[in-house]
Amino acid sequence: MIPQELMDILVCPACKGDLRQEDPELVCTRCSLRYPVRDGIPIMLVEQATKRDDA
Ligand SMILES: [Zn+2]
Repeated sequence: MIPQELMDILVCPACKGDLRQEDPELVCTRCSLRYPVRDGIPIMLVEQATKRDDA
């Protein structure tokens, strides 16, 4: 899990939207890009993000 204080400062690099934790990923609430979390570190790179079209 990501500490709340880190969640508070993280935004989606694509659209600056808020993120929510959806283990094991962080999901942008605005554009729905999904960012992987590796060893507890969120990988906030658009190139590493995935999008689930059927969501
Ligand atoms: Zn976004």
